[in-house]
Amino acid sequence: MKKLISYIFPIYNEYGNIDHLYKTMKELLNQNNKYDYEMIFVNDGSQDNSLEKLLQLQKVDERVTVINFARNFGHQVAVTAGLDHVNGDAVIIMDSDMQDPPHVSFDLVKKWEEGYDVVYAQRRSRRDSILKRITANVFYRLLDKLADVDIPRNTGDFRLLDRRVVKQLNKFREHNRFLRGLVSYVGFKQTGVLFDRDKRLSGKTGYPLKRMVKFAIDGLLGFSWTPIRLITKLGYFISLLSFIGIIYAIAMKFLRPDVTVPGWTFIVISILFIGGIQLVTLGVLGNYIGRIYTESQNRPLYIIENVYRSNKSRKG
Ligand code: UDP
Ligand code: MG
Repeated sequence: MKKLISYIFPIYNEYGNIDHLYKTMKELLNQNNKYDYEMIFVNDGSQDNSLEKLLQLQKVDERVTVINFARNFGHQVAVTAGLDHVNGDAVIIMDSDMQDPPHVSFDLVKKWEEGYDVVYAQRRSRRDSILKRITANVFYRLLDKLADVDIPRNTGDFRLLDRRVVKQLNKFREHNRFLRGLVSYVGFKQTGVLFDRDKRLSGKTGYPLKRMVKFAIDGLLGFSWTPIRLITKLGYFISLLSFIGIIYAIAMKFLRPDVTVPGWTFIVISILFIGGIQLVTLGVLGNYIGRIYTESQNRPLYIIENVYRSNKSRKG
């Protein structure tokens, strides 16, 4: 039997892209008949007609499976649901807006054939807005510095995973997910393939600034204790300053009693300063505690309304 390659496509309001994506994929897969294929579309609570479009495809093509979420759970969770449902010997995760060019997936497959378990597609260039490029750059630098695992620069979730890796990855059920960190964490033989990232074909990004910030925080806090360690360092530093301040205040009281009464400015500044630091500190702690809270609730990662799958589709 031929080996099976599974594609996972998270879909959030991609009505304008699905047809083109499917057509491109179909042509590509028909040219390469060395493998069997399945395409798993995870509809992440789209508010447009993406679902209808997907179900039409599913009816005519047994290689298509549609997982329909009961609401929007976010990109990382959508990909996770895909990973939970694939059967493939290799699994390819791709964006559905044509930013990850489908033909590149075969470059990934080639590396897999050479024996790599994880092949990530690394952006040689990207055609996104200036804002996105700058924020992405800052984020990856920060992550590089802070994270406890090595997460390759300029990679998104566009990557190929061997089924062995998927099996390990599926054991990680944490809620605030940062998949590419997890992939680095599990190890195995990893390599990258360079590609040029295209523009989004149609529609608009599902990652506005607010979501990008949340995503960045998930990446940083999920894979780094540095913010908490920084708090301690900050605490030492502030204590040192306070100590100097105290010596100064006492010295002034004895040496220059005539000018010590108007110490009001000093008091106000120090109170504000310490107050600010405390709030920041509490915020960082709160962020970790919030994560503990979410994990302790142990809610399911996602709710599926239905899985639309042909009974002819291959079980791995
Ligand atoms: N996506 C999703 N759920 C969301 C947001 C996005 O499944 O809540 C999907 C989206 O359909 C696309 C991929 O995740 O296939 C990447 O999203 P997008 O292109 O909007 O992000 P960007 O490329 O701008 O970072
Ligand atoms: Mg995109």
